[in-house]
Amino acid sequence: TPSPNNTPVTTATNEIMANYSDIIEKSRTAFNSNQTKSLHIRKHHLRQLLKLLNENATDLQLALASDLRKSKQEAVLFEIEYLKNDIINALDSLECWMKTEKPDKPLINILDGVLIHKDPYGVVLVIGAWNYPLQLTLLPVIGAIAAGNSVVIKPSEMAPATAKIIAELIPKYLNRDAFPVILGGVEETTELLKQRFDYIFYTGSTTVGKIVRAAANEYLTPVTLELGGKSPLYIDGSVNMDISIKRIIWGKCINAGQTCIAPDYILCTRQIQNIIVEKARELLKAWYTDDPKNSPDLCRIVSEKHFMRLLELMNNSGSIAVGGRHDQKDLYIEPTILIDVKSTDPIMKEEIFGPILPIVIVDNAYDAINFINSRSKPLTLYVFSSDQEMQNLFMRQTSSGSFCVNDTVSHYAVENLPFGGVGHSGMGAYHGKNSFDTFTHRKSCLVKDFNIIGESFSSAKYPPYSDKKLSM
Ligand code: NAD
Repeated sequence: TPSPNNTPVTTATNEIMANYSDIIEKSRTAFNSNQTKSLHIRKHHLRQLLKLLNENATDLQLALASDLRKSKQEAVLFEIEYLKNDIINALDSLECWMKTEKPDKPLINILDGVLIHKDPYGVVLVIGAWNYPLQLTLLPVIGAIAAGNSVVIKPSEMAPATAKIIAELIPKYLNRDAFPVILGGVEETTELLKQRFDYIFYTGSTTVGKIVRAAANEYLTPVTLELGGKSPLYIDGSVNMDISIKRIIWGKCINAGQTCIAPDYILCTRQIQNIIVEKARELLKAWYTDDPKNSPDLCRIVSEKHFMRLLELMNNSGSIAVGGRHDQKDLYIEPTILIDVKSTDPIMKEEIFGPILPIVIVDNAYDAINFINSRSKPLTLYVFSSDQEMQNLFMRQTSSGSFCVNDTVSHYAVENLPFGGVGHSGMGAYHGKNSFDTFTHRKSCLVKDFNIIGESFSSAKYPPYSDKKLSM
């Protein structure tokens, strides 16, 4: 009888591993046998994805409602239509994006072909997030398909209804071998990351982002990490306060604050804090009535764990000026404003990712800049000011993945702006053509012929070496 130490490990993990390596091998074979590379096939797959979204819009909305109680408007606007627009844009521009570039060439290469060829990487792994579970899973997939790759798709287990419908629909519309969907949580992702991929695109927390990057190192696989962090918002007294409050509260309340670029906290003077509280109270009542719990427009917190975490943060930081009601059974937290929050309060130590908006008092813009620069680089920085010098001051003296003036979240929808983090908020970027570029290797190509004149340009490089040749 073998000792316990020699016992062959026949656990589920081994089965999962064998299964994954088989799935990825099939995806690689599909890539190598040109099932994803031509312009024609890329367009076909993109059209199929568009068809999937058109033909199943209602079921997709229901899945999003089941996972997050997402309203139809948010499901359509931020997930389904958003994806459709990205596909339509890719279909319109793909031929142009794929064109081989011909950069300027030096005199010595005047007779040669000097080209940058747009190569797909091969097999891409996309790990999606739960907060916009359809959009954040399929948006990178669109870019990877446009760039000619095969894609292993791993939706988030935290949004199970959306993960399930993605796994059901994708094989009905796309090449099953080239675009497999893998379901699972931490254990499955851990095993999946042991496989060799040619590119990994991850959306999620900074903590897991580090795990993904470490796993990718094994094969020197390039990664894009779309991570999170606390996105600050500075507001001064020069703005139209009514419009500003609408734009700020909207950015915090969509998806119940579970948005990676939601304004995380406000920096302002005490005087502005008082105005914000008054105006936000009126606005929230107008939008969601006296009892927002009954409004169909507010999402729910994704899980009990996150609900409890948010409650802890809310009850131990600053004081509640607006909102604060909650219901554990319904995973409901009312949009809440906390005032006089200290930089050392628990809510200022981690990304909130919920409908709670703390306000930290600063004396002026310089104070705010010092505060921001003393912390990790955020995914987005918001500045509300009508003073252009003030806007420029923040733009030049701070570092963040993106920067948005006098609005929140809307910069995400500008398809020509690369979207991504910097430092702790991530690396790499995507959206529109940037997605195509992310999943494309720009291969440098030099193409020569046997022209005698061209060869004479090179004569100096051959031995025997001499000073005369060196000076040519
Ligand atoms: P998460 O990183 O905790 O989980 C993401 C996925 O990673 C899980 O679904 C799981 O499959 C896997 N995972 C979790 N732990 C793992 C481990 N130890 N080893 C291997 N795999 C593991 O993130 P989350 O809670 O889903 O997302 C919240 C975070 O994502 C927030 O910080 C938010 O800001 C960020 N986010 C960023 C963007 C962006 O575009 N930059 C978008 C949405 C969310």
